[in-house]
Amino acid sequence: TDGTITTDVAIIGAGPTGLFAAFECAMLKIDCVLVDALADIGGQCAALYPEKPIYDIPAHPAIEGAALIESLARQIEPFNIPRMLGRRVETLKGHRGAFILGTDKGEVIHAKAVIIAAGAGAFGPNRPPLDGLEAYEDTGSVQYYVRRRADFEGKTLVIAGGGDSALDWALSLKELARKIYLVHRRDKFRAAPESLRQLDEAVERGEIEKVTPFQLKALHGESGALREVELVTLDGESRRLEADHLLAFFGLATDLGPVAQWGMDQIRSTIPVTPSTCETSLAGVFAIGDVATYPGKLKLILQGFSEGAMAAHAIHPIVHPDQALHFEYSTSKGVPNS
Ligand code: FAD
Repeated sequence: TDGTITTDVAIIGAGPTGLFAAFECAMLKIDCVLVDALADIGGQCAALYPEKPIYDIPAHPAIEGAALIESLARQIEPFNIPRMLGRRVETLKGHRGAFILGTDKGEVIHAKAVIIAAGAGAFGPNRPPLDGLEAYEDTGSVQYYVRRRADFEGKTLVIAGGGDSALDWALSLKELARKIYLVHRRDKFRAAPESLRQLDEAVERGEIEKVTPFQLKALHGESGALREVELVTLDGESRRLEADHLLAFFGLATDLGPVAQWGMDQIRSTIPVTPSTCETSLAGVFAIGDVATYPGKLKLILQGFSEGAMAAHAIHPIVHPDQALHFEYSTSKGVPNS
C-alpha cells in the first residue's frame, strides 16, 4: 500500500478486548483493522503473563494468557482482519463518520468510527540509550523479544537485564547458542528462586558467563551487523564482548501518551464512556477494556469482551446507516469457513 488504509473501524489495541471487538465487528459486517504498538497481538496477556493461568474467563476453568490470545486469534481468523503491529497510533482527527488516524510509522488510516482498546496505554520495550541503536535494531542484531529461537542457533549472545525475562531467555537459549554472556548492572539478579538456582548451575558448567556489575556502553559493528558490545562499570572500568546479537530485557514502558491528546474527557489514565454504548465524549469514538471507565467498571477481561459487543452494535448505524440492525445470535449467522 502507499501507507493509506481505509476501513470502517480502526481498533486501537490488539489486547484481548481489541481482538474480541474485531470479532464482534466482523459478525456485524463492519470492516476493521487492528493496530498495536507491540510487535505481537495479545496486550498484557501476551506481554506480561503468557504462562500465568487465568481462572475467570467464562467456560475456561483455567487458561494461560498466551492460550487465551491464541483462541481469540483463531476466532477471528476466518475474517482475515488486517493487523498493523509495531505501530503506535499518534494522532486522531476528524469526526463521527470520517476519522483520520496517523501512526508513528507514517501510515494514515481513514475510518468511520474508532474503538480505543488501549489498556494501560502503548507498551514498548525500554531501549538502552546507545548511539546508532536503530541500525542494529533494523537488522535484528539488537532485539527485545524472542520471536524465533532458531535465529540464535550457533550465535554469540549478550543478554542484558536482571529480571525474569533476561534469566529465562539465557537459560532457554543456552542449548542453542554458541556462547551466552549475561550482563547486569548489579551482582544480584531479581528472579524466581528456581531460575536463580538454574543460573548458578549453568554458570558453574560454563554454559552462561555472568558479566556483572556492568552496563551497556556502546555497540560496535558495521551497517547494523553487530561485532562487539562495549560495557562499563560505575567506576569506569570497561570491557568488550564479542557478540552477534544483543538481547536487552529492561522491561516494558507503558504510556497512555498520545491517546491523552485527542480531546476526550479523561479521569486519570482512563476514558469515561456511556455504559450502554461505550461511546466516549467524542462522538464516534468508543473506548473498551481497561482504558474505559463508568460506575461499576471492573478491569477484567470478561467485561472488556462484553464492552466490545456493545461498541460494535453502537457503531453499526454509523457504518450502515441504511440498514436496520436486527439482533441475531451468532448461530443464525454463522462464521465463514467454520
Ligand atoms: P491490554 O491488554 O492492556 O492491551 C492494550 C493494547 O493496546 C496493548 O497491546 C498496547 O500496546 C496497545 N496500545 C495502547 N495504546 C496504543 C496506541 N496509541 N497505539 C497502538 N497500540 C496501543 N484479568 C482478568 O480478567 N483475569 C485475570 O486473572 C487477570 N490476571 C492478570 C494478571 C496480571 C499479572 C496482569 C498485569 C493483569 C491481569 N488481568 C487479569 C488484567 C487483564 O490482563 C486486563 O484487564 C486486560 O489485559 C485488558 O485488556 P485490554 O485489551 O483492555 O488492554
